[in-house]
Amino acid sequence: MATGTLSIDLDALAANWRALDALSGSETGAVVKADGYGLGAARVSKTLAKAGARQFFVAIAEEGVPVRKALGPGPRISVFSGHMEGDAALLKDHDLTPLLNSPEQLIRHRATLPGHAYGVQLDTGMNRLGIEPEDFSPDMAQDATLVMSHLACADEPNHPTNQKQLTSFREMTNTLTAPKSLAATGGTLMGKDYHFDLTRPGIGLYGGLPFADAKPVVTLDLPVIQTRVLQPGESAGYACAFTATKPTKIATVSAGYADGLIRAMSGTAMLYAGDTAVPLAGRVSMDLLTVDITALDHIPDRLQILGPHQTVDQLAEAAGTIGYEILTSLGPRYTRVHV
Ligand SMILES: *Cc1c(COP(=O)(O)O)cnc(C)c1O
Repeated sequence: MATGTLSIDLDALAANWRALDALSGSETGAVVKADGYGLGAARVSKTLAKAGARQFFVAIAEEGVPVRKALGPGPRISVFSGHMEGDAALLKDHDLTPLLNSPEQLIRHRATLPGHAYGVQLDTGMNRLGIEPEDFSPDMAQDATLVMSHLACADEPNHPTNQKQLTSFREMTNTLTAPKSLAATGGTLMGKDYHFDLTRPGIGLYGGLPFADAKPVVTLDLPVIQTRVLQPGESAGYACAFTATKPTKIATVSAGYADGLIRAMSGTAMLYAGDTAVPLAGRVSMDLLTVDITALDHIPDRLQILGPHQTVDQLAEAAGTIGYEILTSLGPRYTRVHV
């Protein structure tokens, strides 16, 4: 079999939720958008519900359907994009709670789903989603299940925008009785001023920065399909981007940029055979990687690209991106094993 194995440690996931929960005195939700950050929204949601999560968040209404199916009735599933035209049936049939982002969404919601639960998302300075301060009035949030906003710079605790957004959130919500939420993973780590009634961590649950104490959740092992020895002057892969300067053993491994191992990691990422690091040689192809395994005294069956020796964030750094992007890009061809 040439499929890679993406192994997802559900105990580590639950431990990360509990660790983040212990950091705040308030309720802790769970963000499971983008198919649970690429790890399988149904399994992830069930595990987090068992750990104690009662509020789940997705980006779009469609993502709420498998989450509701996995969780059954009871837990709240809120939708960050709010109530878009055409969403009413989905929201109603699967008991999803839109986080309304504009006066237009509020009007649409009251017209098409009167009496159906809703929350409100406020813009406190990120200028991405949410009702602007000048458009907001407290009566809009009278029956809201949640009033929330999102921090733009929470991965930099000392960034002045955090304090500005906190002040703006307080000003917009201080007369409201609805439960409030401002913090994702980064905000949860910034202390109790940011916690309000509910925190909404995502990346930290899945083992990513900025939650430096997170337990790693994923390992990714890739099968070696073939090996060969290059003589000095011979090249491997597209554009001859790697050329041997001495006899070099190359292993061709099954996974490529179509599986989320993006081309930007060409020539920089490492793989691991046990404890031994072996470098990517040349360009990442769509379905294949070529790896310089000259340092090994044996031909391995598989090489590991994510695991204890190389975290999601370390691989992201090699590719010039962030852990979020690596995780959510991991493609559908891997065999996902939940352990
Ligand atoms: C994605 C998202 C989160 C979770 O953010 P993390 O940084 O992954 O913890 C929380 N709230 C909103 C509005 C989001 O878009």
